Amino acid sequence: MSRHPATRNPGALRHRPDCLSSADRHNVDRVRPLALLGALVMACSSLAAHAGAPRDGDVFTNPAGSRPWPGPDVTLPFFARKTWTSLVGRDGAAPRVPYDRAAMLENPSLTWIGHSTLLVRMDGVTFLTDPIFSERASPVSFAGPKRLVPPGVPLDALPPIDFVTLSHDHYDHTDLASIEALARHGTRFVAGLEMGDLVRAAGGEVVELDWGESVQMGAVRVHCVPAQHFSGRSIVGNGRRLWAGWVVEGPTRRFYHAGDTGYFDGFRALRERFGQIDVAALPIGAYEPAEIMRFVHLDPEEAVRAALDLGARHTVAMHWGTFDLTDEPPDEPPRRFRAAAEAAHLGPDRAWVLAVGETRRW
Ligand SMILES: [Zn+2]
Repeated sequence: MSRHPATRNPGALRHRPDCLSSADRHNVDRVRPLALLGALVMACSSLAAHAGAPRDGDVFTNPAGSRPWPGPDVTLPFFARKTWTSLVGRDGAAPRVPYDRAAMLENPSLTWIGHSTLLVRMDGVTFLTDPIFSERASPVSFAGPKRLVPPGVPLDALPPIDFVTLSHDHYDHTDLASIEALARHGTRFVAGLEMGDLVRAAGGEVVELDWGESVQMGAVRVHCVPAQHFSGRSIVGNGRRLWAGWVVEGPTRRFYHAGDTGYFDGFRALRERFGQIDVAALPIGAYEPAEIMRFVHLDPEEAVRAALDLGARHTVAMHWGTFDLTDEPPDEPPRRFRAAAEAAHLGPDRAWVLAVGETRRW
């Protein structure tokens, strides 16, 4: 892998860093001025021969093809049930503990803020994954899936955040109000191709990457890796922003955030490419009805299979107990996850189920 220093050009409104400039790339020209970066030294490169995410015209697809979609006899009753639960609410929130500021600032450490939002400290950098601090995962403030549990750490209690990874554009992962608040403090964003419009609309600076590409953020390298999912924030124009997972690789630690994904052979491929992952954050919830969800989300047993494929030192469960998105009881995923982990001889020290607000050292 070659490394080039990023072009520093504070006077330009937009520029294309030399690391992202090959002519056959997909307009990865979204890197904006680095003037606000301060001490954060940044360099980036693309892999010599990365395959990139598959596309069909201007729509991204999955290596496994298109998502199977059941008929209206399955989908319509599901949407009706979720409209109902978003109005009346359901029990089953993840347990929450008061956050421990000293623990949260340890290096390395990991704090579950809820859903797929993790605060990670490693190799001297501090970052957030898929930050959502809003009341609802929705385009509107008065409807849509409501939080079952408040964020484990409020936005204004966070330490300075060096960067944020965004896995995809769904409302429970790309929350514009949270991006806006973080951008005001100078946080930078790393996201998949074509995600830039959203981040910039919220005032953030963003580096957009294809699968197989990476960017240096201070002491760590952030790699964009495949996920099996989809994208879209309305009923039209879906698939035009890329979904991804992230491997954050530092001098002493490797962290993986799977984003949203179904079970696929990408986990084994990551192990081959990166070797030992120290912590893998895997989604374990939002799996029923399986006819709709299986291709795009892991169920708890599949999450354990993924953990075994990855061979990670630790796995942390996420994407459960925070927003009520699907049919299974919100508190079922961790029970099934722990049972499957025990059956696979992954004890509580290997397969973590955290409370919201809880911090672990790793
Ligand atoms: Zn999603």
